[in-house]
Amino acid sequence: MGRRILFLGPPGAGKGTQASMLARALGVPHISTGDMLRAAVAAGTDLGRRAEAIMARGDLVPDDLVVALVEERLAEPDAACGYLLDGFPRTIDQAEALDEAVGEGAIEIALLLEVPEDELVARLLNRAREQGRADDTEETIRRRLQVYREETEPLVDHYGDRVVRVDGVGTIEDVFARIVLTLARTP
Ligand code: ADP
Repeated sequence: MGRRILFLGPPGAGKGTQASMLARALGVPHISTGDMLRAAVAAGTDLGRRAEAIMARGDLVPDDLVVALVEERLAEPDAACGYLLDGFPRTIDQAEALDEAVGEGAIEIALLLEVPEDELVARLLNRAREQGRADDTEETIRRRLQVYREETEPLVDHYGDRVVRVDGVGTIEDVFARIVLTLARTP
């Protein structure tokens, strides 16, 4: 089973939840650019101040900022034996920067969590009610889905035969079991 994995999939697909469970099971760090950026916003760092309004609109933080953040994180000792990337890369330029940083082919599996669009919108609106995240308003949700289709979906071609598709509809436990089974079957 691969230990250098990335999660692909639209906002609301459940990447964060599943990535954190899988990282724990595999004993590798869960590296989420969304979490890191939200932490930077909360801490009021220079990066956080630059990212805050962009994130609240549902747009992507500039590639150079995110790439620097991830490169720094991947240089930490706990990432030496593997990692699970969640929310990165999100653009072809980010994927190319990652290839350069870790070596082309270093990523063993790109796990694509698939969920139909109306289910995504329902989940994100629900999360908005529960967590009050600044980027979960209906308008921002539409924008994030559009950005996903335009900027991130082309990564499915970039990763080609390393892409493994998993149905993301069902309970958290069902989807996790599906992911583990799928990875166990992937050479
Ligand atoms: P979701 O998966 O629900 O879209 P994330 O927590 O992954 O949420 O990301 C939230 C926001 O953080 C994104 O809409 C974007 O503004 C910013 N962001 C996260 N990762 C990246 C990235 N790799 N490149 C650019 N912006 C990012």
